[in-house]
Amino acid sequence: MNIYGIKRIDLEEYFLQNGEKKFKAVQIYEWLYDKKVSSFSEMTNIKKELQDKLAKDFSFEMIKIKKKQEDKLVKKYLFELFDGNYVEAVLMEHDYGYSICVSSQVGCNMGCAFCESGRLKKVRDLEAFEMVEQVLLVEKDLGKRIDSVVIMGIGEPLDNYDNVMNFIRVINDPKGVSIGARHITLSTCGLIPKIKELAEEELQINLAISLHAPNTQLRDKLMPINKAYPLKDLIKTIKEYIEKTNRRVTIEYIMLQDVNDNETQAKELASLLKGMNVYVNLIPYNETNHIEFKRAKKTQVMNFYDILKKMGINVTIRKEFGGKIDAACGQLRSKEV
Ligand code: SAH
Repeated sequence: MNIYGIKRIDLEEYFLQNGEKKFKAVQIYEWLYDKKVSSFSEMTNIKKELQDKLAKDFSFEMIKIKKKQEDKLVKKYLFELFDGNYVEAVLMEHDYGYSICVSSQVGCNMGCAFCESGRLKKVRDLEAFEMVEQVLLVEKDLGKRIDSVVIMGIGEPLDNYDNVMNFIRVINDPKGVSIGARHITLSTCGLIPKIKELAEEELQINLAISLHAPNTQLRDKLMPINKAYPLKDLIKTIKEYIEKTNRRVTIEYIMLQDVNDNETQAKELASLLKGMNVYVNLIPYNETNHIEFKRAKKTQVMNFYDILKKMGINVTIRKEFGGKIDAACGQLRSKEV
């Protein structure tokens, strides 16, 4: 087991089972996430025999930053994993601080027609520690604290549920990376059973749903997941999620020219979402070399925005980051080149 994938409560259990006091878990967490040491032997308030035992029971290995590309407010990190696979994470600088977009899988099986990341089928799920280390290594590299985490990089987080939940618990822990739940966003293409499970977690994180179409016929064409979990059922599940958690949900909608950007579709989307505690995030589409879709025209986006607004829907247009270094939404890859 890698030490960075262990929740504090599990570490407490480990110490109790080994005849130690459970507060040792807090001490370890402080070394890992506050002082950011890289071996058990640096943990000076832990006695030598225990350091040796910990070193036997847990690994301390880190994934590696293989490459870093920078643009004004963005840094993109390519990480090499132990088995030679790659994933990317993106750091963004905002007025309010730094946010990081992390990957949850190597490749992705969801097959959304417009997304670059899914061109490589899923190779494997990321372990919790591999996600924690993305955050930790970028914090170390930056020399500053990261304020918020979005799980919107490569992969479908709800298709890797247990590892993603462990990851969230570790970074959310006040003795860990200490990122408040309200500063953590999980984005999903809509795996209904897992959204129901998430509703039961009693976590105050933000949920974002990649909707991208106002009706099921169009969504079928764009997102194969809609065949398994159709729009109508998804909307019902989102309503139940909001009811249960009392949290506002984000609806993501990428604007594709002549595909989902006309007035009728704006009205259809507004009717679909009427009365729900959601806000719509309109996302300028990032074109890629391999995929046909085009970015909707600015006027179309503004028009779409106005219609939603007029029909009483909360709506924003996503600020753009990282297009120049292929660090924007849907451009992340699982390959080195
Ligand atoms: N699998 C998750 C998270 C990863 S994708 C999900 O589907 O939500 C993160 C967001 O970027 C999703 O809303 C996705 O639909 C969107 N996206 C994918 N390709 C894009 C592109 N080329 N331009 C803009 N957004 C894109």
